[in-house]
Amino acid sequence: MNRRVAIIGAGISGVSIAYHLAKEGMKDIIVFDKGYFASGATGRCGAGVRQQWGTETNCILAKRSMEFFEKADEILEYDDTVELKQEGYLILATTEEEVEDFQKNVVLQNSLGIPSRVLTKEEALEIVPHLNPDAFISATFCPTDGHLNPFKMTEAYYKAGQRMGVDFHFFEEVLSLTVSDNKVTEVITDKGTYTVDVVINAAGGYSKEIGDLAGINIPVYSENHEILVTEPVEQLQGPMVMSFSKNIYCQQVPHGSFLMGRTTPNQPKGHDISSSWQFLDAMSQTVCEIMPLIGKLSLVRQWGGSYNISPDHQPIISRAEELTNFYMACGFSGHGFMLAPMTGEIMADLIFNRPSSVIDLSELSIERFKGKTEFDIEKSVV
Ligand SMILES: Cc1cc2nc3c(=O)[nH]c(=O)nc-3n(C[C@H](O)[C@H](O)[C@H](O)COP(=O)(O)OP(=O)(O)OC[C@H]3O[C@@H](n4cnc5c(N)ncnc54)[C@H](O)[C@@H]3O)c2cc1C
Repeated sequence: MNRRVAIIGAGISGVSIAYHLAKEGMKDIIVFDKGYFASGATGRCGAGVRQQWGTETNCILAKRSMEFFEKADEILEYDDTVELKQEGYLILATTEEEVEDFQKNVVLQNSLGIPSRVLTKEEALEIVPHLNPDAFISATFCPTDGHLNPFKMTEAYYKAGQRMGVDFHFFEEVLSLTVSDNKVTEVITDKGTYTVDVVINAAGGYSKEIGDLAGINIPVYSENHEILVTEPVEQLQGPMVMSFSKNIYCQQVPHGSFLMGRTTPNQPKGHDISSSWQFLDAMSQTVCEIMPLIGKLSLVRQWGGSYNISPDHQPIISRAEELTNFYMACGFSGHGFMLAPMTGEIMADLIFNRPSSVIDLSELSIERFKGKTEFDIEKSVV
């Protein structure tokens, strides 16, 4: 199958897609990025990987992705390590509604083979003793959830793709697409014009704009999400601690720093990724309420990055119906890092035009939004 495939974006989605296509023998793959690999949301993310989701689709994608991450160094023949830390996610229920929802989520997760369980407050405190016992009612825990190094994970895919002949063009921006006879025929960048047979939009926060270049209206938008990192200290916390109702995730990474983030309410849609004192203030108050001990640490840095949000907060991995050769992997709504292995696998299924062994492809299709104004929204998000 010698066809020229252009992938726009070398974040975790783009490099995973390139790897999966090359692994299946596809030749002549070009990946464009206006920066370097991981210069978009991927290099700015918390890189938490969890399987405790509220929808079957997300549970399946996350579980199958975790199976890949567990063997990623080996499968990708990486000359370093992706630093998988698998010490679980502890998700706090702080309202009676959450207690009930989380019980249902655990039943769903267990039915799909995810080893999560409901914990009493006392059991949660045994796992993370510095939790404020007054801040939550109960919790759920999945011991195989965890964290990766986002730069190394992306590099592992990049190097594996490169070894199989994928041509990465960094610091090259896609400016326009030529569409003719229901196909994209050319990708025009700031460095040249490329004749293409297939185009894959993996442009993260800019995927809507890339869709516009092809005349495809992708129902996603971008929103700034901020995060911060503290000084490194001795190991205090194994799992990621997360609460949807309190709006926090907080993880100690292997070198000792704590990474934490939350959603700033009423963020305007757009490409702003600046840092704000409002985030710093709210983040500090939230973490001091949930884990007062962490409040004693000094901050090193804060930054922002784009969530690319879809109407149901689940990804769009799809071909555009209107064009025969334009595909997209976007709308990850703040959890595209942890789903990337399946993003690549499912995109390969779409491009090779075969049913997926992972999931019913219609679940992730852009068509699912057509003519709908109300959606079954994944609630398990920060
Ligand atoms: C603060 C924060 C915390 C997060 N925490 C987590 C987490 O814990 N777990 C998790 O799973 N997810 C998390 N996410 C979400 C995750 O970062 C994203 O879903 C994921 O990285 C998306 O990867 P991507 O490859 O699709 O997009 P990106 O990483 O954004 O990559 C897109 C690439 O496209 C390039 N590009 C854009 N336009 C063009 C163009 N015109 N020409 C050429 N190149 C172009 C960009 O330069 C960029 O490198 C977080 C996000 C943020 C912001």
